[in-house]
Amino acid sequence: MTDSAEFDRQGRTHRLELTDQTVREWDATVLASSADDGIVLDRSAFYPGGGGQPPDEGVLLWGGVQTRIVGVRRGDDLALIPHDDDPLPPVGTPVRGAVEEQRRTALMRTHSALHLLGGVVYRDFGALITGSNMNPLEGRLDFNLDAVPDGFRDQVLAAANLEVAADRAIEVRVLPRAQAFAIPDIIRTATNLVPEHVEIVRLVDITGLDVQADAGTHVASTKAIGALEIVKVENKGRGFRRVRVRLQP
Ligand SMILES: [Zn+2]
Repeated sequence: MTDSAEFDRQGRTHRLELTDQTVREWDATVLASSADDGIVLDRSAFYPGGGGQPPDEGVLLWGGVQTRIVGVRRGDDLALIPHDDDPLPPVGTPVRGAVEEQRRTALMRTHSALHLLGGVVYRDFGALITGSNMNPLEGRLDFNLDAVPDGFRDQVLAAANLEVAADRAIEVRVLPRAQAFAIPDIIRTATNLVPEHVEIVRLVDITGLDVQADAGTHVASTKAIGALEIVKVENKGRGFRRVRVRLQP
């Protein structure tokens, strides 16, 4: 096994959210700081976005000063984007980081809901996911599905809410690439999105339903998703169906 740099580091930043999705506040030190390139910390729990999940927002607190974080950019380092009106903490400053809880938890529930939906539609209809997007408490998945059978929407809705009620554990683990990809159906999206150089793969496992290679944040069990509503099933062309879901606040 290679070191953990493969999955929970971005440049100089240790990404706390990849091993503990419950972290909302933590201590860190500023490694770089500029209005243009953003703020780099040694430790961060700000999810930078990816897999359809948008980046976190939050604040850095230092000596009674607040720097709002309005986004995150992934480059050589993980760069936190400060609000234009706020002061920048100088390099070397100890800061308290905090991820905005309501938004993050809503995104974790939404991301988990999309996995659950993808798992159900694959299991019951054999369809692959070709695209996804989400905002807090609403999201959509695109499926490679030729025709929608009668009752598709009601059947998917009932099956999805059964899986919520079943309170399946959602577990995160990491495996060497070869081992991870030996798991049947591990890449259920139609295209393998995991880059060649990635040696350690982070897996998100809705126990008994769906295992995916994934860097996003998820709730601990399906019950925490809450009831799901299917807003719409759209026909977007040959073999292309879009399912929109909404969660309760
Ligand atoms: Zn995901």
